[in-house]
Amino acid sequence: MRITILGTGTSTGVPMIGCSCKVCTSSDPRDKRQRVSALIELGDTTILIDTSADFRAQMLAHHVRKLDAVLYTHGHYDHIAGFDDLRAFQFLKLPVPMCYANKETHEIIRSTFSYAFDAKPNRPGGGVPNIPFTIIDAASFMIGDIRIAPIVLDHGIMDIFGYRIGNFAYLTDCKRIPVASKEKLMNLEVLVLDGLRYTEHPTHLAISESVALAKELSPKMTYLTHMNHDVLHAEAEEKLTKNVRLAYDGMKIDVE
Ligand SMILES: [Zn+2]
Ligand SMILES: [Zn+2]
Ligand SMILES: [Zn+2]
Repeated sequence: MRITILGTGTSTGVPMIGCSCKVCTSSDPRDKRQRVSALIELGDTTILIDTSADFRAQMLAHHVRKLDAVLYTHGHYDHIAGFDDLRAFQFLKLPVPMCYANKETHEIIRSTFSYAFDAKPNRPGGGVPNIPFTIIDAASFMIGDIRIAPIVLDHGIMDIFGYRIGNFAYLTDCKRIPVASKEKLMNLEVLVLDGLRYTEHPTHLAISESVALAKELSPKMTYLTHMNHDVLHAEAEEKLTKNVRLAYDGMKIDVE
């Protein structure tokens, strides 16, 4: 299984519009962070986690020509706003990915992109997205022969889904991991985990909290994501252990 980390930035992206701080003006490419998303390739199957606000740029940068499925974590703008660009597959008459989302996330996508879902049958045209959804709950499900396990996470103001696939788990946007979810996160090889900034935040893990969780769950490797512009890549990594690193845009991780 090959994971490509497409984006590692918080909702504003880094650099943030209008900011001239040392991270936003850093020349280190690892300090350039698009909105979070990850691509998972396993055999012939390509699965995307979230259509981020930078979805189009990410698909073009990584020459993605086929998506079998999209797993949505939750309905915040940074995670869904590339949804409309899934139309490209439709226009090229290529298979359109099946989108998996819980009821709440699906409702948010429906209302955000209402023109796609509430198109008037008597007024055709306009090339609106026609993308299929499967509504999921926290039960595991299959995409082909790949088992996908949703992991319930507490994002402060809402419960969202992380996902476990084999020995890989992707847990963005969380403040706490419920006990029942922790039990599903044992024996991981690679964990990608929220790590917003150094100071505490009401809806995200601070880096010290992410490090404590990494210690508790003890995956072989943990990579932090969803960082904001307080976090200079090189400086942050100096303070981390060799088993907890920062992810960066374009990073590739192979998992057994
Ligand atoms: Zn987010
Ligand atoms: Zn900045
Ligand atoms: Zn969020």
